[in-house]
Amino acid sequence: MTLKDQILGCLYGQALGDAWGMPAYFHPDQTWAKYGWVDKFYPAPDDHEVHAGLPIGRITDDSEQAFSLAQAYIKAGGVTLEATVEAIIAWYDRTGGDNSKYVGPSTRRGVQALKRGEDPHKTGRMGDTNGAAMRVSVVGALHPNDPIAAIEDAAISCLPTHGTDVAISGAAAVAAAIAVAMREDATLDAIIAAGLLGAELGRKKGNRWLGASVTRKIEQGVQIARKGGDPMARLRQIYDQVGTSLAITETVGASFAVLLMADGDPKQTAIYSANLSGDADTVGAIACAMAGAYKGIGAFDSYTLEVLDADPVTASYDISGIADGLLNLIKSR
Ligand SMILES: [Mg+2]
Repeated sequence: MTLKDQILGCLYGQALGDAWGMPAYFHPDQTWAKYGWVDKFYPAPDDHEVHAGLPIGRITDDSEQAFSLAQAYIKAGGVTLEATVEAIIAWYDRTGGDNSKYVGPSTRRGVQALKRGEDPHKTGRMGDTNGAAMRVSVVGALHPNDPIAAIEDAAISCLPTHGTDVAISGAAAVAAAIAVAMREDATLDAIIAAGLLGAELGRKKGNRWLGASVTRKIEQGVQIARKGGDPMARLRQIYDQVGTSLAITETVGASFAVLLMADGDPKQTAIYSANLSGDADTVGAIACAMAGAYKGIGAFDSYTLEVLDADPVTASYDISGIADGLLNLIKSR
């Protein structure tokens, strides 16, 4: 497996988990009543609070922001605050952010403050939701086998919208996990250990804020995943105890849990994320980006890639161009 295979796996994993989780409801009982066990792509149901009207295989804000950041970092030659601000505002305006249902609360607050001309070091000082983690996969992919650099850059990518210690903790956990997933000899244990390291080091950064520990939420999720047994029972326990709301501690803890339940397989990770419900597209995007970086693009079946490539929104971002750009940036260091 080449580095390019793992970068492509990370990017397609991001899109897969996002698009697969997009039609899931907020509570697993609603999702299971509608679909039974979600084991394929679905369009969003008409009564979905956020995603009604979206077609099969459509990515959402999670992947659009991640891909936008990647393009900006490639252009800037690395992760900078300026490139982060530019990419997020451009994405927001391009998707009609003022009237969009799926701009998260921290991103909306941060973008509006940035547009008023406020200091990007301060505009994210109250951002504590999962937007920081949902878009950070590409930062991890830029630092294969270097979790410390991934953590430092993850913090920069958080700052303008999610500058709290808890949000940086969640994003740093995911970025560090992906950096380690891209080692040739990566194991799930090593990926989880990197996540815990990122959560701890990330919590020391940013504006002091309230929120449960990302470290403890990852540990709790991992413990439930490792119990084995009925997947539906474990997903219900993750939903009830770790949580899958917009709070970044919950999202990141749940993402590590489903990654582990699926033994790192991207499609199985997507299946578990969708059936988990809650903010399923975000848990899916994060968890499947980790899975894809770990297993590489070879772990994706051709039908899955065809569905993702057929979506015009995904196509507009040119995943293969982003993969080449990230690879060149890594090699130029
Ligand atoms: Mg989303």
